[in-house]
Amino acid sequence: MPFCHQLPESESSYSGGLWIDSHCHFNFDVFDIDREEHWQLLQRWGCAGLLIPGVVARDWQNLISLCNRKPWAYALGLHPYFLDQHQEGDVAKLKLLCQANKPVAIGEFGLDFSLPEDTFSEQIELCEQQFKLAQKLRLPVILHVRKSYDEIAAMVRRLRFDQGGVVHAFSGSVQQGQALIKLGFLLGIGGAVSHSRATKLRKTVAQLPLDSLVLETDSPDMKPAFWGESRNSPLSLLLLAQIVANIKRCVLDDVILSSNNNLLALMPRLRKIIKESI
Ligand SMILES: [Zn+2]
Repeated sequence: MPFCHQLPESESSYSGGLWIDSHCHFNFDVFDIDREEHWQLLQRWGCAGLLIPGVVARDWQNLISLCNRKPWAYALGLHPYFLDQHQEGDVAKLKLLCQANKPVAIGEFGLDFSLPEDTFSEQIELCEQQFKLAQKLRLPVILHVRKSYDEIAAMVRRLRFDQGGVVHAFSGSVQQGQALIKLGFLLGIGGAVSHSRATKLRKTVAQLPLDSLVLETDSPDMKPAFWGESRNSPLSLLLLAQIVANIKRCVLDDVILSSNNNLLALMPRLRKIIKESI
């Protein structure tokens, strides 16, 4: 029975309700060795489904096939972190694939201003193109935003993008969070909230409404502070949910239920993909 002894003591209770990891990269190679077995384990711990965003064109087709016949939803996008791997014509390819298949969102894409400044103009161009495509296809987006919360909010306003989405791994200020919520976005809360140095983020989460938050692990990346294994797993979501419950002074079930409902309201097709009733 892994991890159960690590659940923090609190008044919160978890009745075993189903949960969804709103952002993980379960398609990454590091899961190749035991993906099926690991999925069985996740299900035993109440995982109802996963949302897996694509990050480079090369992986899209495999991702679509991988999610076939599983309660795993996918999104397709061109991540700013992999600028050097994106090619001319990838956005056109994205449009065709999105029309032929049914991603629940476009993403993950966005702006990462922790990268060198000489990449900014290319990042902005690619980000705008994907916003425009999502608007055209009436799909929500999954955003990667680092050191550029104000810039992304300005872009959303300028492009009049109104399909909403998730700002994954949110770590901005309360004001930045509220601005994004006003623009129709949910804020993804993940492993960062578990680290001892993340006092500011925990204070921010305390002030943001639960009905604008979604839980995510970003596994295999963003290992939570308490995670002993070399790769992060969607399983860490339960512990992240417990931390959020402690911050919000509510019970674990409320955090999980609220995260599920927020995500399903944004992406109604996800409910069909996840056949279990939630
Ligand atoms: Zn990601």
